[in-house]
Amino acid sequence: MSGNFLKDVESMYDTAAENLGLPEGLAEKIKVCNATYVTRFGVRLRGRMFTFRGWRATHSTSEGPAKGGIRYASNVNQEEVEALAALMTYKCALLNLPFGGSKGALEIDPAEWEPHELEKITRRFAQELMRHGFLASATNVPAPDMGTNQQTMMWIADEYRRYKPEDINGMGCVTGKPVAGGGIEGRTEATGRGVQYAIQAFFRSEKDRHSAGLESDSLDGMRVVVQGLGNVGYHAAKFLADEDNCKVITVIERDGVIRNANGIDVDALHAHIAEHKTILGFEGGRFEADGATALTDECDILVPAALESVIHEGNASHINARLIVEAANGPITHDADQILNARGIVVIPDLFANAGGVVVSYFEWVKNLSHIPFGLMERRSDERDHRNLARSMEKMTGKTFPSEEQTAFLNVRQEIDLVRSGLEDMIVQAFAEISQKVNAKEQDVRLTYREAAYQLAIGRIASAYTAMNL
Ligand code: GLU
Repeated sequence: MSGNFLKDVESMYDTAAENLGLPEGLAEKIKVCNATYVTRFGVRLRGRMFTFRGWRATHSTSEGPAKGGIRYASNVNQEEVEALAALMTYKCALLNLPFGGSKGALEIDPAEWEPHELEKITRRFAQELMRHGFLASATNVPAPDMGTNQQTMMWIADEYRRYKPEDINGMGCVTGKPVAGGGIEGRTEATGRGVQYAIQAFFRSEKDRHSAGLESDSLDGMRVVVQGLGNVGYHAAKFLADEDNCKVITVIERDGVIRNANGIDVDALHAHIAEHKTILGFEGGRFEADGATALTDECDILVPAALESVIHEGNASHINARLIVEAANGPITHDADQILNARGIVVIPDLFANAGGVVVSYFEWVKNLSHIPFGLMERRSDERDHRNLARSMEKMTGKTFPSEEQTAFLNVRQEIDLVRSGLEDMIVQAFAEISQKVNAKEQDVRLTYREAAYQLAIGRIASAYTAMNL
């Protein structure tokens, strides 16, 4: 399956590169992965030596440090890591982030190891990456991905700082750290938050939502199917349900599916999984063991938020959604993409839909490098300006400012407010560019959102190369 994943990413790239008419040789240069480091290292645990295999693929560095997550899973391989690294290059270019693309993986099932063992393994992996030039704020900056979390990132940052205490920017060698350990508010929710902002942007645009056969600009009552209630799926589902009033009717997990036509209580299900390590026994919906077929449940929005290649030639013609939002990386194969496209099902592609994580990683990296919290210099003066403005308005109108408005208007902006505002801005901006390309009048056939996103990203990288006369 993952062998095809690399081919799929390359096919999507080739189509875009061809349409852009890139100069000979340049298309190939941008496409290939610059370097892949493979390491096999030993760790003494449980009274014996265990050997682990890991990868870090750097797809590109021309835009800045290579950025992208590290995943821990037992079924990873080099091709998958390289495909994911390429996606990171395109994602960062699309969002105008000053990064190249990278991805790492460790062949391990984290559930089989105790936290103190995972710590030892992670620290060894970090040493290998460091020693071979695949970890530093200026060159290669990992982040969480499947099977890793803020704790994993903290161990990596700590290991780096032990080895390089003289590097003043040491904390910026990795993002997705806990807030108390040099991280930033809102990083954990960021990818799910970005999915929500992407969907909101799509619904706000009449042309775009009409292309998916969606009439109303309101998300109220939209039926949502989510695959995977991990960090990304959970936050996306929670925000869509709590803030946009969507109905999460189906949640698909590793061990089955929960359905409830009136809407699943996402937080309750999430808490149930955390406690019991299974969705089995959850009382807020109907359980069925065959989860995979639930991808074809009738809904308005389908959010695959788990693995790659889950929507393929075999099930694409049965998908019963108007809109698919790729919260995971690569959940739709190239063949399936064409089937969905022919069926008029709109796909919001991964390199845009799940970019929230790396956008907030960017904020964290900037915070680490600047050594000053966001908003520190202007916070009080902004507050004073707002107070003066409110006072003047009261004077001019002879009326007092309503107290509930006062709290919203006069509240000091916290880090989380700034992070969300920055993230929303970048998602809205990127969507406007994609939408403009999709809806451009001069073309014979309407581009898909994926084609438009790829073209924007690759066009940007190609222009950077051309500017350097390479
Ligand atoms: N692993 C996430 C992704 O695939 C985040 C990467 C990052 O923050 O660098 O986009």
